[in-house]
Amino acid sequence: MNSLLVPRPVSAGVFLSYKCSGECRHCMYACSPAWGADWIPERDLEKILIQLSDTILPNPLGSDRVGINYGLHFTGGEPFLNFDLLLKAVEMAHGFEIPSIFVETNSFWCINDEGTREKLLQLRNSGLDGILVSVNPFILEQVPFERTERAVRISREVFGENLIVYQDVFYHQFKDFDLRGRLSFEEYLQRVGVGGLRFVELIPMGRAVYALEFLYRKFPAEHFFGESCGDSLTREWHVHVDNYGNYLTGYCGGLSLGDAGDLDSICGGITLEDYPILEALVTDLEKLYVLGVEDFGYTERGEGYISKCHLCLDIRKHIAQQTGEFKELSPREFYFRLE
Ligand code: SF4
Ligand code: SF4
Repeated sequence: MNSLLVPRPVSAGVFLSYKCSGECRHCMYACSPAWGADWIPERDLEKILIQLSDTILPNPLGSDRVGINYGLHFTGGEPFLNFDLLLKAVEMAHGFEIPSIFVETNSFWCINDEGTREKLLQLRNSGLDGILVSVNPFILEQVPFERTERAVRISREVFGENLIVYQDVFYHQFKDFDLRGRLSFEEYLQRVGVGGLRFVELIPMGRAVYALEFLYRKFPAEHFFGESCGDSLTREWHVHVDNYGNYLTGYCGGLSLGDAGDLDSICGGITLEDYPILEALVTDLEKLYVLGVEDFGYTERGEGYISKCHLCLDIRKHIAQQTGEFKELSPREFYFRLE
C-alpha cells in the first residue's frame, strides 16, 4: 500500500493543550499538570476551525443539539485551565457556523455555584451549545465529587438536554455512595469489586496500558501479529486536532497523520513511504515489532501486553524516546508522559 486515503472528518475535538489539572490513569492522551502550557495559538485555531467548518456535521436532531460523536468539541487536557482561550475558541467556532459545539471538562474548576454558573452562561452566550461532564472512577481520584455534582446540576440548568454526563452510570453510583471528596481507585475497587468495572468504557490504550494493566490478562507480542489499523487510522468520526496541529484519529495518542492546518493534503492521501510507522501499522503490527527490534533494539516485555494498542504503544514509546526522526510520532512529549 503506497497511499493511505483519509476521509474528511465529520466530527472532531480540538485540544486547547495537553495540560490538565489531573493525571488520570485511563487518559488516552497522557495529559497531566506536567505538560507545558503550550496553548493552541489563536491564528492556528482559526485556520483549523475554518477548515473544519466545511466538513463537520451536526447532530441529526439539530445543529444546536450535541452528541459525543457529532459536531465539534473543545477538549485537552482540561480546557477550563485557560477559560479566556476557551471562550475565544467558542466564539470563533460559532462565528464559522460550526454545528453542535460542546466542551468536555473534568469539573475541577467548579468550586462554587456562582463562579460555575457565570462561566457556563458566558460560554452559552458566546455560542456554546452544550457540555460533557466526565464522571468515572479515575476522574474521582482527581476531582472531589461535589465539584462534579455542581457541574452537572448547573450545566443542566444552563444547557438543559445538551448536558452529556459521561458516564451517567457512575454519576448515579457515586450519588448512591453519598460521596464527598476524592476516592482512590483502590478504595473504589474495594467497594464495588472488579465486577463493578463492567460499566467502564475503558479503552486499553494510552496511559491505561501501563497504569491499569493489572486489571487485564496479558499475551505475548505474537498474539497480536496479523492485526492492522487501517480502519482506526482512517476513521472520520471523533478525530482530534491537538494544540500543535497534529491530526489524530482512532484515539491513537502520539500518532499524527499530519498538519491539520492543511487538511486538504491529509485527505488527499498520505504517502506512506514518508511515514514508516504508519505504513507498518496499516500493514501488520508484526512489521512495527520487527522495525522496533531490528532498528531500535526493542525487547519484548516478559509480562506481555494487554491489547494490540499496548504492543503498538510500547514499541512507539521505545522508538520515540530515542529519536525524533519519525514525524508521525508526534507530539514526542506524549511518549515521556505515559508513566
Ligand atoms: S482523562 Fe481528562 S481529566 Fe483525566 S488526565 Fe486526561 S484530559 Fe485530564
Ligand atoms: S494498535 Fe496503535 S494504531 Fe492501532 S488502534 Fe491501537 S494505538 Fe492505534
